[in-house]
Amino acid sequence: MHTLMEDLRHIVGSAHVYTDGDLTAWEQDWRKRSHGKALAVVRPAGTDEVAQVVKACAAFREANPDSGISIVPQGGNTGLVVGATPDESGRQIVLSLQRMNSVRSLDADNLTMTVEAGCLLQNLQEHAEAADFLFPLSMASEGSCTIGGNLGSNAGGTQVLRYGNTRELCLGLEVVTAQGELWHGLTGLRKDNTGYDLRDLFIGAEGTLGVITAATLKLYPLPAAQLTAWAAVPSLEHAVTLLGLAHRHLGAGLTGFETMGQFALSLVSKHFPHLPVPLHSDSPFCVLLENSDRESEAHARARFEHLLETALNQGCVTDAVVAGNLSQARQLWHIRESIPLAQVAEGLNIKHDISIPVSRLADFVQTTDSLLQKFIPGVRLVNFGHLGDGNLHYNVQAPEGVNAADFLRSQEENVNRLVFDSVAEFKGSISAEHGIGGLKVDTLQRYKSPVALEMMRAIKRALDPLNLMNPGRVIRV
Ligand SMILES: Cc1cc2nc3c(=O)[nH]c(=O)nc-3n(C[C@H](O)[C@H](O)[C@H](O)COP(=O)(O)OP(=O)(O)OC[C@H]3O[C@@H](n4cnc5c(N)ncnc54)[C@H](O)[C@@H]3O)c2cc1C
Repeated sequence: MHTLMEDLRHIVGSAHVYTDGDLTAWEQDWRKRSHGKALAVVRPAGTDEVAQVVKACAAFREANPDSGISIVPQGGNTGLVVGATPDESGRQIVLSLQRMNSVRSLDADNLTMTVEAGCLLQNLQEHAEAADFLFPLSMASEGSCTIGGNLGSNAGGTQVLRYGNTRELCLGLEVVTAQGELWHGLTGLRKDNTGYDLRDLFIGAEGTLGVITAATLKLYPLPAAQLTAWAAVPSLEHAVTLLGLAHRHLGAGLTGFETMGQFALSLVSKHFPHLPVPLHSDSPFCVLLENSDRESEAHARARFEHLLETALNQGCVTDAVVAGNLSQARQLWHIRESIPLAQVAEGLNIKHDISIPVSRLADFVQTTDSLLQKFIPGVRLVNFGHLGDGNLHYNVQAPEGVNAADFLRSQEENVNRLVFDSVAEFKGSISAEHGIGGLKVDTLQRYKSPVALEMMRAIKRALDPLNLMNPGRVIRV
């Protein structure tokens, strides 16, 4: 172990290998569900250093098969499935990409930018905007998460409806393989049918196949205007009808469609009383819609008002407000994005990040709500999410007065089983956007087909025969 540590210090410099002191920021996951112990936190400055670090670890592992040495790639450590932090063995190296945060180039004609993996998402949005472009990936963690982590987890966010997941926003990758070799896949091509898509293997692999060191990302023209509306709907079924109307009225202008249940919004009101939450007290669900317009604000407003008028007339909306300016729009998004933090303030709950075909969502929620109520009378359901993508954060909170930690300890397994069985029944996915990490490895075994699992294992064995990269996450080999 001593020789390996010496090698790592030599590669990245002693100042960038942390072994002592408080390493909580790297060892504990965002939800504080797991606190591991790293052998070291290693912070390379560039791709060559990443390659040398991986090579050194692979060589050590090969020479000492029982050492248990392995690598956990980490970006902003905002992941929600315990995928970016070390286990308790004290033998894992956290490879933090945070120092690799330059934008290498921006190609205005090709509508792309090439960036290093440790760039903060928010910095990339701002970099694109300064050049008059939109980089549309957006989520509440954007001030802390990195593009490497977004790619590693194929993150979704609030604009998937129009622009797709991170996978759809990426044209090329630079990757250090599990052997420490460099794969130069930084293409800006939109068409390239030359065999297996290696890029797509690394995206969403959650650091189990290699280390993403840079990416070429798609850019879009900035919209001329972006308007946000907040609507109260009488039921989730009506929210789905409104989504269909919004698609027809706004076409590609529809860039966001979020739904929020009454209890989720009441938690925001309770824990952040300075945030005025509109229209939620008399309505079981509210919807946040965003319309990005290529012409002008007046054009956007006219189309939005026409949509909402039609929806009010058809009874799928009971009341609505359109933000009058950018700061009001930001305030509405801020309310939506405060739901995760309001849940934290209320106490831990049992989280499910699921997707269901949009046409079956309302039925799923009604069926599963009533199964849960029968099973745990008084249970509270925090229900919100990216309805436009069929993605719900379907979280189960202890009944009023029941200790949250006790609830989690005694009910998590049963509740997960009930919810995921229901998801399977409705032909959905047990993880829409957060991934598998260490948290859902067993759940994946249960709900993915044996054929799919065997293909995944074969890929892992082929690309990482030493099981060096983030072992035990996503799939066990
Ligand atoms: C408040 C909040 C809101 C969120 N909202 C959303 C949302 O709307 N949509 C969504 O999808 N997620 C969301 N998330 C989850 C999280 O922010 C995203 O998954 C994000 O993409 C993680 O980025 P990160 O840099 O923090 O990655 P990390 O947490 O550091 O890592 C995530 C995974 O990727 C791997 N990884 C990291 N960097 C690399 C790399 N360079 N190469 C290979 N693998 C790597 C890690 O090993 C780990 O398995 C949210 C999280 C929070 C805290």
